[in-house]
Amino acid sequence: MQKPAATTVASRAAAKTPAKKIEDKLARLGLRTDMDLVLHLPMRYEDETFVVPIRDASFMGGQSVQIEGLVTACEVQYKPRRQLVVTLADDTGQATLRFLNFYGSQLKQMAEGNRVRARGELRHGFFGPEMVHPIYKMVLEGAPLPVALTPVYPSGEGLPQTYLRKAIASALGRLAWRDTLSPALRDTYSLMPFEDAVRLLHNPPPETDEGALADRSHPAWVRMKFDELLAQQLSLKRAQVARRAKGAAALPVIGALSQAFQQGLPFALTGAQQRVLDEVRRDLLAGFPMQRLLQGDVGSGKTVVAALAAAQAIDSGFQAVLMAPTEILADQHFRKIAGWMEPLGIEVVWLTGSLKKKDKLDAKQRIESGAAQLIIGTHALIQDDVVFARLGLVIVDEQHRFGVGQRLTLRNKGLGLSDGIDPTQIVPHQLMMSATPIPRTLAMTYYADLEVSVIDELPPGRTPIVTRVIDQNRRDEVIGRVHAATLEGRQAYWVCPLIEESEALQLQTATDTHATLSAALPDLQVGLVHGRLKPQEKQAVMDAFTRAEIQVLVATTVIEVGVDVPNASLMVIEHAERFGLSQLHQLRGRVGRGSAASVCLLLYQSPLGQIAKQRLAIMRETTDGFEIARRDLQIRGPGEFLGARQSGQAMLRFADLETDQWLVEQARTVALALLRDDAVTVEMHLARWLGAKEEFLKV
Ligand code: ADP
Ligand code: MG
Repeated sequence: MQKPAATTVASRAAAKTPAKKIEDKLARLGLRTDMDLVLHLPMRYEDETFVVPIRDASFMGGQSVQIEGLVTACEVQYKPRRQLVVTLADDTGQATLRFLNFYGSQLKQMAEGNRVRARGELRHGFFGPEMVHPIYKMVLEGAPLPVALTPVYPSGEGLPQTYLRKAIASALGRLAWRDTLSPALRDTYSLMPFEDAVRLLHNPPPETDEGALADRSHPAWVRMKFDELLAQQLSLKRAQVARRAKGAAALPVIGALSQAFQQGLPFALTGAQQRVLDEVRRDLLAGFPMQRLLQGDVGSGKTVVAALAAAQAIDSGFQAVLMAPTEILADQHFRKIAGWMEPLGIEVVWLTGSLKKKDKLDAKQRIESGAAQLIIGTHALIQDDVVFARLGLVIVDEQHRFGVGQRLTLRNKGLGLSDGIDPTQIVPHQLMMSATPIPRTLAMTYYADLEVSVIDELPPGRTPIVTRVIDQNRRDEVIGRVHAATLEGRQAYWVCPLIEESEALQLQTATDTHATLSAALPDLQVGLVHGRLKPQEKQAVMDAFTRAEIQVLVATTVIEVGVDVPNASLMVIEHAERFGLSQLHQLRGRVGRGSAASVCLLLYQSPLGQIAKQRLAIMRETTDGFEIARRDLQIRGPGEFLGARQSGQAMLRFADLETDQWLVEQARTVALALLRDDAVTVEMHLARWLGAKEEFLKV
């Protein structure tokens, strides 16, 4: 980079700031070492390599241009407010520079006859072409122009670009360069050498393809993204190795319970369920903890696979626990699984926050004594005072609903101390379930330390759900459809609009809808369930719906996950445009669970925005959860899709999990090779790219 020929306003400001302060400001950007500085890459570039004659510049409306000329006039005007107005002239014309905030020192700088190089948008003002608040510097005649594009760095308050540029330039000079990728690896993946890539990005030579810099497809950027993804993969793989180094109780017995249970099921497992079950069973035999994600679209039958895994733990003499995110779901699991297992002599215990004190105490005692073999419940399970006797398997349903911390707490409940084993070294096996399908790239970043099993087949006899998108003003017709469905002995859900700003308002809407539907359908039983009901009340309503005493269930999103009433075949969702895609998919998944053809009606309030239209169209076109997730990801980007932190995108400054998918795959391959062959380089690469951030990733 070219040294400025004269001081700039910015660098003067920096000079006034004590070095310590600057250091603090750099540290706040995470820039502590030379390597940090060198990897602080430009977000864009300014082209200051040429000066445009003022006459030409005034025809380049809107674009940022650089002009240079002599000051011919300079005055402070007071109307309409105090401002510094400078007239600048070159051989071709003149322009006004206008500063609404300025220092006395600037007034001196702008003395008549001084030379100014200014960059900004030259617009047509009242008095001819003018630039408001240009970036400028005082120069001497013939001062050389930069030969490279000028980098613009991400910065913080009070940290001028010029200072950052200086700090980075000197770090570039000091650094002892070492490439963490061997020439052979670079060759295989056509990657630029590290030093060349870094230098190019800080000082792109004039012939560099600016477009490729801007969209980050330039080989220098590709190298940076590759390195960053490699660091992420290395870190995740190491976490996996650490997990494998821990012990777990092997659960080797697939015995009487497992067999009786599977034979007693009213259906045969689908091929996909059986395959996934085999994967889980194999993991449970091992002496290190399983960490497996069971993915399967809504209704694919994950519960029974989980129950069979629990059976294996119990057959092997250990306890299993199943945690669900809502009471409704926990209760449903309890009934279903207890219904399967209790006749086989297994003690199944239920624990949720809403249990009476005495019952809670009783449940905890049975968990602690080991009498309880299978425990099903909600967050209540992770309370401190819940102590397991011999916990061998943790199952988390709808795992995306739980924080990482909550899952860890449950897992860390480990084996009972009664075994005389250090519970931090021996952990239970873990099975997580989710219907929110994670596209492959995300699975490889966020979930690099998870084995993934996918149930990619629905149980037989399901007819696909037909989805219609309908204007809200045809509500009466929709009510007619609901009535018709009930006449055929079917049941319906009516989901009330999501009102994120106000729970009270949402409740009000649900109550109103319940009243309206009750009035419109006087011959039917219309139920209402929402988040504010007491758990027992919720339960009573859900029971009545399950027994078909209620035909129409008005609900808020409390029914979003897991609820399984196969006779319900009609789903109405009001203000569908307010819901996210995965939420709509989950809600829709409450129907289509029996053999009857199911229908989902998405009511919307017109007019619809472009994205809302797109989203509802996706819902109409497909019922495939993976496809929906893929398209959702396209619309929202991975950060929002999973929450920035969860997706692993938060770790990435340069790579984009969506567009750089191919690089993720390559980085993964290289990570495995490095971990196998070159521990020293692994350390160096991780330190370079993650530094203190690695801890963050492990959580
Ligand atoms: P999800 O994967 O969404 O959690 P569930 O486990 O609730 O799905 O299963 C959905 C429904 O399908 C339940 O009523 C369950 O009993 C039933 N089911 C599960 N497996 C099969 C199968 N192999 N054949 C028929 N029905 C099944
Ligand atoms: Mg489920």
